[in-house]
Amino acid sequence: MAKKKLSARAARRASDRASEKLTRDIERLALLEPGHTPGRAIALDAASQVEVAARAIPCPRCRGALRVEDHTAETLDGVRLRVAKVACSACGAGRLLYFRLGGAALN
Ligand SMILES: [Zn+2]
Repeated sequence: MAKKKLSARAARRASDRASEKLTRDIERLALLEPGHTPGRAIALDAASQVEVAARAIPCPRCRGALRVEDHTAETLDGVRLRVAKVACSACGAGRLLYFRLGGAALN
C-alpha cells in the first residue's frame, strides 16, 4: 500500500519535472522571438502603440492573449525602449516585452 502511494508520487514528480523542462524550453525559444529581449525590441512610432502591439503577440506558453499591466520608459545602451509588463489572460504567465520608439529612424 505504502509502496504504491510512493510510486504514484514518484510518477507525479517525474511529470512535474517534464513539464518544468518544457516550460524552460518554451521560455528559451520565446527569447528568440521579436519583442522578448531588449536586443529584439519591436520598432514602434509612438508609445501609444505599445498596448496594441503587445496584444498582437501571443503567449509563448499557451498562445493566449497577453494583457498589458504597465509599461515604462527605459534607456538601455543609449536606446530608448518601452518595457511592457504583460500577463497572459489564459495561463497567467507574466513576462516583459520590449519596444523601441522612433524605430526605423534610428537605423
Ligand atoms: Zn499563456
